[in-house]
Amino acid sequence: MLIKNGWVLTNRVEKKDVAIEGNTITELGKSLSGSEYIDASNHLVMPGLVNTHTHLAMTLLRGYADDVPLHEWLTEYIWPREMKLTPEDCYYGNLLGIVEMIRSGTTCFHDMYFHPDQAVKAVRDSGMRAVISCSLAEFGNRAHALDVLKTGLQFMKTIQNEPRIDTSFGPHSPLTCSPEYLLTVQDHARKLNKIVHIHLHEAADWIEKFSKSHGQTPIECLESSGFLGENVCAAHVVHATDKELDILKTHGVKVLHCPSSNLKLANGIAPVAKMIKKGVCVALGTDGAASNNTLDLFAEMRLMALLQKLHDPSAMTSGTAVKIATENGGSALKWNAGRIEKGFLADIILVDLKKACMTPGHDVLSNVVYAANSSAVDTVIIDGRIVMENGVLKTLHEDEIIEKAQEHAYDLVNR
Ligand SMILES: [Zn+2]
Repeated sequence: MLIKNGWVLTNRVEKKDVAIEGNTITELGKSLSGSEYIDASNHLVMPGLVNTHTHLAMTLLRGYADDVPLHEWLTEYIWPREMKLTPEDCYYGNLLGIVEMIRSGTTCFHDMYFHPDQAVKAVRDSGMRAVISCSLAEFGNRAHALDVLKTGLQFMKTIQNEPRIDTSFGPHSPLTCSPEYLLTVQDHARKLNKIVHIHLHEAADWIEKFSKSHGQTPIECLESSGFLGENVCAAHVVHATDKELDILKTHGVKVLHCPSSNLKLANGIAPVAKMIKKGVCVALGTDGAASNNTLDLFAEMRLMALLQKLHDPSAMTSGTAVKIATENGGSALKWNAGRIEKGFLADIILVDLKKACMTPGHDVLSNVVYAANSSAVDTVIIDGRIVMENGVLKTLHEDEIIEKAQEHAYDLVNR
């Protein structure tokens, strides 16, 4: 397949053709020939966006409990509903999220939620790419947590060598998992060459509570236990001292930044520009739709860049913002994706340059970060397959999914 006559985003934006064979980008150049092609005239051809931290089926709880403090939000609204989630709820919640993500140019996501087998099913059915975590938490019951880990290992075995799907370990956080348990999980992850997906330094009072009982902050504690490493994907890291950022850099930890969720739950603004300056790999995520409330990474990218400019307009350039949302996401999730380059996976989106929000085109990258919204995403290719063409989803029945998800969401909150 060829993508012809588009403005291709590599290290710069240039008019080129892109050749795809199977699921891989095989060539970039001028006037490439081939019989099967997409005409990308007047379109920006860019890497698909990578959502590195979400709880996808939480789409069912979108808008269910907003504007309340974090503790009340969790204990009175979210957790009681989550106890009643069925596998079918999660399947439709996942599909609803995937529809929204494809429409907003996301081609890969990293999930941590209940019934991960249902996320796998939704990914298979939609043609999406994903890393699905098996959720783990200890809550003081080591024996039970080790059983759950065993189940997680079996789950991982069942989906080895699946196209477009990888698995990761998802121990919830240092607050719900002891350092010893986290180390056991990390040992398995290292042996199996898997990612460990964890919430880290999200809320200031949680860090304080942990520090009081352990005599160290979570980041310091995880360093001294030997848990940190380049396979650790740490969601949030809103609060971190210079010393803690140096620790993350030294161990190659990836930070999964979720600015909307951090603001909505009043956790603060992560020092992303400082992280980048220190050489920490930062990628972008939406968190669950109950704490965002969209899964639109264009919105997230814009918010991220603006927040870093609070005191310095040059603190984050549009180029850096796009890199965080694409290439860094691919690296964090260990997929060879996030760049339009020979040998990379063909996860590509076409953005319509004739849309009002993309006009005029003085600086296309600047438009992508500060002006674009999901309505400009025209065509989406994942793993070399077209999943949306000219705004029409090719692999999913959108109306039916929205209807089913609505039914499940209403039923869940009234159950
Ligand atoms: Zn989260």
